[in-house]
Amino acid sequence: MKTTSNYSIILDHQISSKTSSEIERIIKYLNHSVIFQPLSANNAIGFGRADYTTSPHWTIYSLVDLPPRAFEANILHELYHLCQLVEKFPTTSTRIKPNATSIENNEFGQAGSVYASVILDLDVCDRLSKFGLSSEYFFDSRYKQAMSCQIKSEITDRCYFVATAMRIAGIILQNNKIQVQNVLAHFKSKNPRLVHCAKSLANKIKKVDYHTPDGCLQSLSITYDLLDIWDWQFINYKDSSFTSSEQVHTFLLQNHPDF
Ligand SMILES: [Zn+2]
Repeated sequence: MKTTSNYSIILDHQISSKTSSEIERIIKYLNHSVIFQPLSANNAIGFGRADYTTSPHWTIYSLVDLPPRAFEANILHELYHLCQLVEKFPTTSTRIKPNATSIENNEFGQAGSVYASVILDLDVCDRLSKFGLSSEYFFDSRYKQAMSCQIKSEITDRCYFVATAMRIAGIILQNNKIQVQNVLAHFKSKNPRLVHCAKSLANKIKKVDYHTPDGCLQSLSITYDLLDIWDWQFINYKDSSFTSSEQVHTFLLQNHPDF
């Protein structure tokens, strides 16, 4: 007799049986119930997000207006982020600046979340492609988004600079060669410093194994140094807050004397 998975329909999307079994497997692994909610396209920063602060269930928000395969990939993408959480990958936080306005603090926070997700996404997209789903749809759309950015002058706003540098680094690391060349050319004339910074970020991130929690910690720390943002971002890892690369270095040395 054919059994139907509990996840054969999510947010009115029919899910393939292969993907629904994977969803079932992950949710068992998470040892936590998960519910799915639509994300409204109007105020969405990305395609989805996983929220583990919603009790008693964890919640995955996803855009619903996506092609079927991309929708499945998006749901799995967010579930793999929850796997990272269970496996204790690092997360980042933004220091609330007492003298900044709430809008500024919110901007710091958003730039910070772009930041962590670029690094954590490398591992998530690899998990997805190992499973057999591509992230192409999302790479293409971030390419289009980058190319539609109107750049009239040099970006001097710190949050915008950091977030854009990280976004471009993500493109260098994951998009196809032609798209990478186009994006670099698009930004280069008005923002040579930004392009240089994005390339250095990508080079540094590439050298570290970002598939492990310790590797991601190291990766984040190296890039915080490069962008000089320890004054407004910190890293949460294994019940501690890391506020400098020295601290990270000491921690990693204690755990891996070969570092
Ligand atoms: Zn992600």
